[in-house]
Amino acid sequence: MTRDQFRPKDADGEHFLLTTVVGSYPQPAWLDAARDLVDEDALSESDLAEAEDDAVKAVTGDMCRAGLDVVTDGEQRRTGMVEYFAQFVDNYENDGDGDGWNSRMPTVTGEVASDSPWLVDDYEFAAEVSERPVKTTITGPFTLASFCSMEAYDNDVEALAYDMADLVAAEASRLADAGARWIQVDEPALGMSPHADIAQECLTRIDAEVPDDVRLGVHICSGEYENLVPEMFEFPVDEVDLEFASTDADDPHDLFEGVDLPIDIGYGVVDTQSKDADSVDEIVERIEHGLEVIPADRMTVATDCGLKPLPRDAAEEKIQNMVAAARRVEAGLNE
Ligand SMILES: [Zn+2]
Repeated sequence: MTRDQFRPKDADGEHFLLTTVVGSYPQPAWLDAARDLVDEDALSESDLAEAEDDAVKAVTGDMCRAGLDVVTDGEQRRTGMVEYFAQFVDNYENDGDGDGWNSRMPTVTGEVASDSPWLVDDYEFAAEVSERPVKTTITGPFTLASFCSMEAYDNDVEALAYDMADLVAAEASRLADAGARWIQVDEPALGMSPHADIAQECLTRIDAEVPDDVRLGVHICSGEYENLVPEMFEFPVDEVDLEFASTDADDPHDLFEGVDLPIDIGYGVVDTQSKDADSVDEIVERIEHGLEVIPADRMTVATDCGLKPLPRDAAEEKIQNMVAAARRVEAGLNE
């Protein structure tokens, strides 16, 4: 089991509910302003790097003060979950063609390749400034292959996904060498297009490069998972992280009733689509509902999805309430 390494020393009860966020966290408005100032030559790239460092210090501080067992860097350096990775991948170009949302989708111009680290510096900085262990999120191969336009690969998303999986696997290996102990592969595309077979092969390639003591997870957005069960229970990961708090999300009983889970479930209990605070009582109710079908030692209490779209004070209140609720339920289990 890879979760015990994240149990704080003072959490000495029989049961321990591991708490974390999915990954992203609101970026301070001044960080966007700093990016604009770089475009206007009023700030240098090194000034922007300093601003990003300060943002990581600020948001890991929010997460540590909320009491999360495992934090992230809030993806403060990323302007988008796909195009951020284009800078590291050859023949995966941020060319800005297209309109609106599409303008942020890279174009595949040839066989993808990469020989430089992607997130190692980001991980090392966050680990240095955070008082809690840091999880690293990395956009998954199926999503990198789906959220792009293709001028190569004959529009074969599957073939591109496998090549991307080899690149993500190499990066996961570099992260593990740098000391990362929890790597989460983010696959929003899998929620929209439930190709469990492609995900299985991609995750198998990544798992092969990740040491056994490093926790490997996969996060799938959407809240609707009936087309991915039971296949996702066989994914070669320690944890599958899912949404359950949003209005349209599945009932965990429909997915897990009678299932002897071979993996942990990242159990989303905070609605990241709504600015309204989820109260501690509401979150307690959601956790207890999940515990009817997920054993406590298989449950990771988490937000539904990334918190980036929310105002920062709303995000902070949500994680504070989530930790308070988890600790209340945990105390009840340990009575
Ligand atoms: Zn998500």
